Amino acid sequence: MPYRLASHRYSEIEELTTNDLLNYSSLVLPISIDEIIENMGIKIKSYADLSPEKLALLVNLGASSDNGFSINNGKKEWRIFYDKTGYECRDNSTKAHELGHIRLDHSERSDLAEAEANVYMSRILAPYPILCAMNVQKVQDSLIYVIDTFNLSATMAANTLSRFFNRRQFNSGLTPYEQTLYDKFIDKKKKGGFR
Ligand SMILES: [Zn+2]
Repeated sequence: MPYRLASHRYSEIEELTTNDLLNYSSLVLPISIDEIIENMGIKIKSYADLSPEKLALLVNLGASSDNGFSINNGKKEWRIFYDKTGYECRDNSTKAHELGHIRLDHSERSDLAEAEANVYMSRILAPYPILCAMNVQKVQDSLIYVIDTFNLSATMAANTLSRFFNRRQFNSGLTPYEQTLYDKFIDKKKKGGFR
């Protein structure tokens, strides 16, 4: 069973991802999670970069069932470690999920923390305002387009689209932060450099 958050919590996380995109992303598609992590000053390494002894030690510290974990050195300097598969969309999801734990100040693992990190991951990789700025009309015509444009797995693209159409049907519009992101994206798109 997917864990459902309180609806205000979705809004809070969406505001955070929107601000993180405004502050740390060039908004070139697909959204580069590596760029965001680097611009935040967070170091990232794959498990393969570590010796087996160090990895075992760190995995114990992170005590996590994720494909990655994050630690800080006590001075608010964060590091993300992740299990690189070589499948870009999967690796990006892992990195975005771990970044979510950091940005949401999760101090312990729980079903709630995992669900929140997944919301952060899905929103930062495929932001609603940017979907609004694109010509997404029907699920069946858009699935491949969304997979390619945002570099998502088929499952994540399908979830993104169902969320998009659901919100567009019932929601009045963008929040002020989302409108800023929408405008900035449109502006960049007009100036070129986007596919
Ligand atoms: Zn997690």
